[in-house]
Amino acid sequence: MRQLLNGWDERRILPSRRLLAGSLLAIFAVDVFLWATAPPLILDGLTDWAAHAATVILMLGVIGEVSATFAAGALAGGVLIDLDHIPQYLGTEFLTEGTPRPYTHSLLTVILLGLAAWRSRGELHVFLAGASIGLVSHLIRDMAEPGQNGGVALLWPLSDWGVTIPYVVYGAAVMLLFLGAWRRYAGASVGSAEAAVRAVAATAASVEEGTGE
Ligand SMILES: [Zn+2]
Repeated sequence: MRQLLNGWDERRILPSRRLLAGSLLAIFAVDVFLWATAPPLILDGLTDWAAHAATVILMLGVIGEVSATFAAGALAGGVLIDLDHIPQYLGTEFLTEGTPRPYTHSLLTVILLGLAAWRSRGELHVFLAGASIGLVSHLIRDMAEPGQNGGVALLWPLSDWGVTIPYVVYGAAVMLLFLGAWRRYAGASVGSAEAAVRAVAATAASVEEGTGE
């Protein structure tokens, strides 16, 4: 498992504290935005993608040092699955007939991706393993996404039922991921939940400063 996560890449990556704090803020900022407004489709899609990417970053922070290939796979799996919405935007329902989201938003895709990862070798194996984990994080967020309560037909093609989870469950999971990832830095500086809260506040303040003018 360790070898799988590290891959064969010399470059190891781990989200910095600033990136962890920024990701946490980005998720909640996007979700408040999605709740409070009904943005046009393109804006909805772009902000939601940012929140999906931020969720993957927090998850990578908990996993620990991974290769760039694994991280790239996780980000790709966590974001690019939404390209399956394109046919719907173009007016064809062949991927969404009867389900709240395209059929490819289901456990079947996770299983197929996992099998592809298992059967492949080398960098592709590492990339696909990352993509499988990224896809799982995507589906979890989609089940809780504000304003999108149709859920995810996880069991398609066995069932079209849209599975949802309360937002508070996702929000708590995101907080736990953040604190879990943050613990890695405990001892590096002040290193505590208190320091984590201060970092989030500081990042929020610098974001506000940047957009205040
Ligand atoms: Zn999605």
